[in-house]
Amino acid sequence: MGLFTGKKGVVLGVANDFSIAWAVTRKLLDEGAEVGFTHLPGDKMERRVRKLAEPIGAKLIASCDVQKDEDIARVFEQAGETYGKLDFVLHSIAFAPLDDIKCAFVDASREGFKTAMEISAYSLAAVSRYASKVMPDGGSILTLTYYGGEKVVPGYNMMGVCKAALDASVKYLAYDLGPKNIRVNAVSAGPVKTLAASAVGDFDDLSGLYDAVAPMQRNITREEVGAAGMFMLSDLSSGITGEILHVDCGYNVMGSPGRALAKG
Ligand code: NAD
Repeated sequence: MGLFTGKKGVVLGVANDFSIAWAVTRKLLDEGAEVGFTHLPGDKMERRVRKLAEPIGAKLIASCDVQKDEDIARVFEQAGETYGKLDFVLHSIAFAPLDDIKCAFVDASREGFKTAMEISAYSLAAVSRYASKVMPDGGSILTLTYYGGEKVVPGYNMMGVCKAALDASVKYLAYDLGPKNIRVNAVSAGPVKTLAASAVGDFDDLSGLYDAVAPMQRNITREEVGAAGMFMLSDLSSGITGEILHVDCGYNVMGSPGRALAKG
């Protein structure tokens, strides 16, 4: 018996096997979960997700652009038909137009801001709304955030502002859905090499910063983020909601460069 034996859920945000969503999925599968997936519209995106989802026998592989309410509504309707009810949902999605994330936040465009906020923050509310309709016995919803929403991380720019909105969304959604026994949390992950991360800046620089500054003197692994995500989606975390769980080797507790400073 695994922690997820008999449990069913939907994962939004697998782009390839580097995706954090896939790292969480692997841990969910190890614990016996049944998982359905969404992908961005388009043959290429569908092929990428099918390559991972078909070998594990996923019964739901559906197209979903979180900018469209009708897509989200359809996915969770299909999920209800396929699985009866859901126990968990993973929202592992972010996007900002490249020009608006490469520039300083002060220069970001209004249109870019709207798009980034809609996909990276508002979508959690929309997903939670439709998902909750097929969670009659309660459940767990998890999103992925980053420290750049709490403090300034140069290079993270506009996405930091989106993550701040996402972090606040987690708390308000936890309040809204608490009476339905639906928990809403975030894992705040240290840098992980993925497609989305490549848009944000130099991964090696950021990862090196964690080696130098984090109390554990290293960066996290993809597997550690996956395991923490699985924990937050499981009944082991049944008393936790509205929480931003840092999975970052302790980087967020530092108020100075610490040992890195001492080394000069
Ligand atoms: P990824 O590129 O593998 O995943 C991002 C996903 O967002 C993709 O699957 C993409 O299809 C999806 N997406 C983008 N726009 C969408 C839309 N309109 N509708 C539906 N899906 C859409 O990269 P990742 O790093 O695994 O990112 C997953 C989450 O983790 C993001 O929220 C990211 O900000 C967060 N995160 C990443 C890191 C990191 O270092 N990689 C650290 C902390 C948090």
